[in-house]
Amino acid sequence: MSLEENVRQVKENIAAAAREAGRDPSEITLVAATKVQTDDTIRAAIAAGITVCGENRVQEMTAHLEANAYAGSALHFIGHLQTNKVNKVVGRVDLIESVGSEHLLNAIDKEAAKLGLVQDILLEVNVGGEESKSGIAPDQVEALARKAVELPHVRLRGLMSIPPVAGPEGNRRFFHEMYQLFVDIRRKIADNESEINCLSMGMSGDYPDAVREGATLVRVGTALFGARPPMHPKAE
Ligand SMILES: *Cc1c(COP(=O)(O)O)cnc(C)c1O
Repeated sequence: MSLEENVRQVKENIAAAAREAGRDPSEITLVAATKVQTDDTIRAAIAAGITVCGENRVQEMTAHLEANAYAGSALHFIGHLQTNKVNKVVGRVDLIESVGSEHLLNAIDKEAAKLGLVQDILLEVNVGGEESKSGIAPDQVEALARKAVELPHVRLRGLMSIPPVAGPEGNRRFFHEMYQLFVDIRRKIADNESEINCLSMGMSGDYPDAVREGATLVRVGTALFGARPPMHPKAE
């Protein structure tokens, strides 16, 4: 299948899952997870109708930005971000989805203050409680969300999660839990509820279920671009 067909198919699947759940398909945005893709592939994806690219790695993102590969698309940072690299991400992306610690939250606020801007962020929740994954424990989310809304140079827009790799029913349970947490945080924290309107969850293997359970952003790589090589491919 071509990239164009894949984009169309994934969008159709999102729309079908949304309707099934009684949701308006326009509430859900497809984020193309573009890690390891070339500048040209990213441009082709945008030409095929991708409106948001999600990058994991600061170095790759920096190179794509220099090549102007994301022209015509919004850009999200979705990977693990080290505090010593926030200066390469803050102000360059529309949304940092993966803020999984207070330390990182503060570093982003500080960098955004330096640049005189407000950075949109999501808090990353470790909904499966996995040791190996970054993110905030579900019972710590409210406290960190309260801190985030106090910081003048970040704007909390919602929550993100990468649930454990589980059977289909397993992930649905985690998606449901994330949705509950999202609704709860929005109700408790937001002065203006419309500011907290992003729930990012679901990847190639499970995005229709994530949509059924309330995702507003799904991050899809493999289903658009095909399987990634296990290692970095050679430079273009
Ligand atoms: C790579 C990646 C995705 C997409 O994964 P696929 O299984 O290829 O769809 C989504 N979210 C994050 C954070 C990723 O790193």
